[in-house]
Amino acid sequence: MAKKIVRAVFPGSFDPITNGHLDVIQRWMKLFDELIIAVGKSPIKNQLFAPEERVEMIEEIIRQRKLRGVSVESFDGLTVEYAAKRKADVILRGLRSLTDVQYEFQLAMTNRAVAGIETIFIMTSEQYGFTSSTLIREVASLGGNLSNLIPPNVYKRLKERFKERQPQR
Ligand code: ADP
Repeated sequence: MAKKIVRAVFPGSFDPITNGHLDVIQRWMKLFDELIIAVGKSPIKNQLFAPEERVEMIEEIIRQRKLRGVSVESFDGLTVEYAAKRKADVILRGLRSLTDVQYEFQLAMTNRAVAGIETIFIMTSEQYGFTSSTLIREVASLGGNLSNLIPPNVYKRLKERFKERQPQR
């Protein structure tokens, strides 16, 4: 019997992608076949990178790490509609802590109620349990060392972005 190929969509803002996201991506790929990282285009609070820039950084990582079966795209509108368009079997979401569970539970139930799609959760490695893109943006704006929490290409772009933003003296 032919093996079923399992494809997930991993939706998020990824502003920017962190080692926590990558940990979840790598764990998924150990178990299943295909993953589409879906970068939401809808405006988010305190956006730092444009959706195209976020996609570009993720493309670089996929290339550098030779992540076969992983691709990235930006998308607009409802996640469930995007997942159906891409013929995804499930939605993938990452969990860091119990506080994530409440919101994610609601979101997964809603997506299942409106579109019948299941969500699979993968827990991140303990070392990234406190990493969020929001905190990364904040720490980067203050010049903190983030080399353990984000990939090198993302760190480089963050430094460039905050240099651009610094007032000229
Ligand atoms: P969203 O704005 O949709 O929450 P994010 O880019 O912040 O988008 O996160 C996308 C997904 O990755 C979510 O499921 C989120 O819980 C998960 N995630 C975020 N940070 C981490 C992390 N450090 N470890 C594991 N999963 C994470």
